[in-house]
Amino acid sequence: MTALQGRIALVTGASQGIGRACALELARAGATVALAARSANKLAALADEIAAAGGQAAAFTLDVASEESLKSGAKAVLERYGKVEILVNNAGITRDGLMMRMKRADWDDVLSTNLTGAFLLTQALLPAMLKNRWGRIINITSVVGRTGQAGQVNYASSKAGLIGLTRSIAREVASRGITANAVAPGYIETPMTAVLDDKQREAMMAAIPLGRPGTAEDIAQSVAFLASDAAAYITGHVLDVNGGMFMGA
Ligand code: NDP
Repeated sequence: MTALQGRIALVTGASQGIGRACALELARAGATVALAARSANKLAALADEIAAAGGQAAAFTLDVASEESLKSGAKAVLERYGKVEILVNNAGITRDGLMMRMKRADWDDVLSTNLTGAFLLTQALLPAMLKNRWGRIINITSVVGRTGQAGQVNYASSKAGLIGLTRSIAREVASRGITANAVAPGYIETPMTAVLDDKQREAMMAAIPLGRPGTAEDIAQSVAFLASDAAAYITGHVLDVNGGMFMGA
């Protein structure tokens, strides 16, 4: 597949899980991929893996929770490639706990990583995208941003916020050939969900009509589709990729 030949992409949280799979899939489709996360070694290994498969990628170590790190990372990417045409805001964390006991720091950490990071990075890359008059902004939200989840008031708020961000930016930049969409995974087997206990896992599985957890590749396929010309007429959409866990309006 070469649907993205010549495109420049940036994926945050590319060091593992869903972001890693997205980077591999975008590179397979022909895009040059800027790999962003905090773990420099993992990013370097992924860049090598993509190069060995005939693709193009480079590592940019950055922390999306730090405005300074994020801005200097975005600058480095723009210096190298001149623009980012496909931005995948995927980096995310959880700090679960019931509302009554949740520490302010757990709220702040999750909001600044999952939501403010996406806002700041999009803002930093938008001028070059607007000039380019073609762009794809893809935000990785979550089923719980639609449904809410006990014990995840911070995480669910950040993911619901990403949906608002997606739809607002979609309206702001539509006239410039830029689309903005969100992908909402359900239960995907990655390091993030490896910490769930058997009871939590069983409860998740019981809620999935398709009867299996999702893979990072299931999400990456949807991201590659939204990044392609085939999705040119889709904007402001939230694509549920969750095995039927939530069938949203
Ligand atoms: P992982 O925990 O496996 O990976 C998270 C990624 O985000 C890592 O690459 C990590 O890299 C990066 N990251 C975290 N904090 C920062 C930071 N401050 N700066 C830069 N990068 C950061 O999670 P998943 O792959 O499972 O999740 C990816 C996205 O998908 C998240 O937004 C998550 O909320 C969402 N999602 C996942 C679901 C699932 O079931 N797995 C379900 C619904 C949504 P590093 O540590 O190297 O910085």
